Amino acid sequence: MSTLSPSSNSVRSLTEPSEGPATRTLLRGGRIVSMDPAVGDLVGDLLIEDGRIAAVGTDLEIAEGSAEVIDASRHIVVPGFIDSHRHLYQSLLRGMATDWSLSQYFTTMFSVLGPNMEPEHLALGTSLGAYDALDSGVTAVYDYSHNQTSPDHTDEAVRALLDSGIRSVFGYGGTLAQHLELLSPPFKSTPSNEAEIRRVRSQYFSSDSGLVTMGFAVRGPDNATMDVVRADLALGRELGLRINTHIGMGVLDIADRPHVTRLHKEGLLGDDLIFGHCNFLTEEEFRLMADAGVSASVTPEDEAGMGHGWPPIVQLLKAGIRPNIGIDTCMAVGGDPFTAMRFALAVPRGLANQRSMEEDSANPWQLNVSARDVLEFATIEGARALGMESVTGSLTPGKQADIVMIRTDHISMAPVLDPVASIVHHASRQTVDTVFVAGKAVKRDGELLGVDIADLAGRAADAAAALLEKAGISPGWAPMPPEGDH
Ligand SMILES: [Zn+2]
Repeated sequence: MSTLSPSSNSVRSLTEPSEGPATRTLLRGGRIVSMDPAVGDLVGDLLIEDGRIAAVGTDLEIAEGSAEVIDASRHIVVPGFIDSHRHLYQSLLRGMATDWSLSQYFTTMFSVLGPNMEPEHLALGTSLGAYDALDSGVTAVYDYSHNQTSPDHTDEAVRALLDSGIRSVFGYGGTLAQHLELLSPPFKSTPSNEAEIRRVRSQYFSSDSGLVTMGFAVRGPDNATMDVVRADLALGRELGLRINTHIGMGVLDIADRPHVTRLHKEGLLGDDLIFGHCNFLTEEEFRLMADAGVSASVTPEDEAGMGHGWPPIVQLLKAGIRPNIGIDTCMAVGGDPFTAMRFALAVPRGLANQRSMEEDSANPWQLNVSARDVLEFATIEGARALGMESVTGSLTPGKQADIVMIRTDHISMAPVLDPVASIVHHASRQTVDTVFVAGKAVKRDGELLGVDIADLAGRAADAAAALLEKAGISPGWAPMPPEGDH
């Protein structure tokens, strides 16, 4: 029996306590930003019991010695961040694409570096990416893993994800070569490897209750012919996989891609789909997505910097879609969610200001996106996109305890007048003190747990150097422009 005696303004879980001895942790006296309107923001306590949030309230009373008590009085307590679009394995090549355009990234990563990656490279990259995410407070990620050259590659990527302790969707994404097929003759798509997808589903993900579940990162109508798109969506839906795809981004001939409309006409849109980027979709396409409940994943920093197009945040909001956010690739940008949130805030504001200057009018009086908006994008909206709204994304009693404690006494943070503003604009991974995934501490007192970072970093550096040598590419190298281009 629980000895919890919540005060009158606390919120109790309606779920039954689980069997067996309870593991309990009480976060005492934190600045709680719950992202659940029913719970609100408060200075108070949060009780974790058996991996779940058991209660949130002020002055929760517990029997002496019945829980580990953590003093949260110098912390903001916020839900773990959720990244809806990240190619974790590419973290092995961190920084390689910093000065590459999107075209240079496709030319080099998809044709040269990626195909040279061995299973071990996928394991190391996925581990690096997952721990990087956890360290900065990302507790759940959709791993868009589109370099599945062989079953060994897949096994290694899945194993790394399972070992890392991050909540995740392993998005099986076929091969990089398949993603390039429509860019050159004969403009055909090879079918996805159905037998392999079924193997992965039954071997690793026979249940959907684990910390890691399976998704399908499909090529979608921008990168595959419609016969392949139809087959992929049918297979993904038969197997109950969350389906993610790149759509409506720069590089390809955007004029000839009314693909959301085509999916709509064929009755293929649905709320199990996540559309990544969406930079060049039309108002009508956003409306179709909204009607069908399709999620929109924007990756603001690399979209703005590499050439996908501007993050379409205002257009999405106008259509009634609350976007979620992702990092995309650590080959080009860093892996923390704070920078992504700041780009998601600055870009729509900057575009509105630019428009008013071009129209020779005063800057807009009211800003179009708020700090709380982007914090929602990075938490509860990410959970919705991943189909995990009932599991994570807010500090709601009954949900899994995916929680981040951010220091308020760090030089970059104090004084915390508005905790939401502090999270979005002043926090960094250095201020992420403690991270829980399903109630288990994966970072504590500023240190990642359960991983030998020096060992992992050393093996990654050796493997990355060997990979670059094998591919004949050195850091800082950039591909020559195609004939006639400059
Ligand atoms: Zn991507």
